[in-house]
Amino acid sequence: MSKNTMPLHKEAWIEELAIKIFNEIEALTKDKVGVSRESYGKGETISINYMIDLAKEFGFYIQKDAAANVYLSLEQSIKNNYILIGSHIDSVPQGGNFDGLAGVIAGFLILVYLKEKKVKTSLPIKLLVLRGEESAWYGKNCIGSKALFGLISQEDLNSTHRSNGKELSKAMTESGVKLDQIRKCKTLINKNEIEAFIEIHIEQGPILVDKNWPIAIVTGIRGNYRHHKIRCKGTAGHSGTIPRYLRKDAVFAGADLITRMDDHWNTIEQHGGDLVLTSGIFHTDVDNQAMSRIPGEILFSFESRSQDISTLDALEGLLRSECKTIEREKGVCFEFDNVIKSDPAECNPEIIKKLLDASDSLGFPRVSVASGATHDAAIFSNQGIKTGMIFIRNDKGSHNPDERMEIKDFMKSVSTLNKFLNDYE
Ligand SMILES: [Zn+2]
Repeated sequence: MSKNTMPLHKEAWIEELAIKIFNEIEALTKDKVGVSRESYGKGETISINYMIDLAKEFGFYIQKDAAANVYLSLEQSIKNNYILIGSHIDSVPQGGNFDGLAGVIAGFLILVYLKEKKVKTSLPIKLLVLRGEESAWYGKNCIGSKALFGLISQEDLNSTHRSNGKELSKAMTESGVKLDQIRKCKTLINKNEIEAFIEIHIEQGPILVDKNWPIAIVTGIRGNYRHHKIRCKGTAGHSGTIPRYLRKDAVFAGADLITRMDDHWNTIEQHGGDLVLTSGIFHTDVDNQAMSRIPGEILFSFESRSQDISTLDALEGLLRSECKTIEREKGVCFEFDNVIKSDPAECNPEIIKKLLDASDSLGFPRVSVASGATHDAAIFSNQGIKTGMIFIRNDKGSHNPDERMEIKDFMKSVSTLNKFLNDYE
């Protein structure tokens, strides 16, 4: 199928266009530190309007759905069996310029390239520019992509903005969302017409930098089980007067629990299991506690992430049983909140292979990684749509203004996607 003589990443003009778009959107959405492209808010709308104006310059067709997501394509009417490329255009407050935007610009460059080179892929292609992926603004993630499949609840719509208290429903209405359709949980896209969904995204972890891989193909997206608040209750007392055997120290009990869970993590990992554990909140009540007071209570969060739902289930069971043991041994009591579950999502094996083949044929390492962070791609995968992702090496992590994606690495991801699309049968 391929009619391209030179790989996309070797053409200087398309790299120059990429740099121009990244720089211009960065300038339009600059904050005191980094960029701010608020979900269903100002910076996101400015960026989406910029993409629409640019699409008009290139003569692309533009559509909007009821959730105010935008679609760009080379043909006016695409119905059956098309490949959807997409990512989100919002950012966290004072975030970096590449998280989300890289995938949007990648898709845009593909359309530009196909048009310029007059290449017709065997399947038509649409670019989807998604809104509202970042949970930092309203505490809810993937709002734009969940809306496509009627997955937004009234509770989601009632959630409030992190600082000004505005309801999400109001912000969505102000951004042009047809709220009645979202409330009725109408599907906005026919999933049977989508052959595959592909998302390019910066890696938000350190693996690609560590391994010196410019890009990698994603095998799956980790799901997570989350406890926001687990309470461990012991008995407070004077630190000098109570001997060890009479103590019910909540901090020692909590620390014991974390050590035991770390041992389980180690065992699971040694047996080839995929898992990461975090207790990001862990504290006594600072107002009551003192240096010389045995802590009577701690509050902590507990999050497990894995590509494998049975690992998450097993871990949840281990957490509960270890708490029971520690209760008996240390005389404390654990009180659990409800666990909030987000299912893992698998990338499609056939798509993974095709992406690896494309990467390989361009001379890039044939490598794959799991995604530790959640992405819009997970929503598509969990709808049964064949899904694939390409990660781009990115130093300094993400969700901060120091993201460091090299444009050469980015161009390799676009080139891989272009090859994949040209070879797709
Ligand atoms: Zn992202």
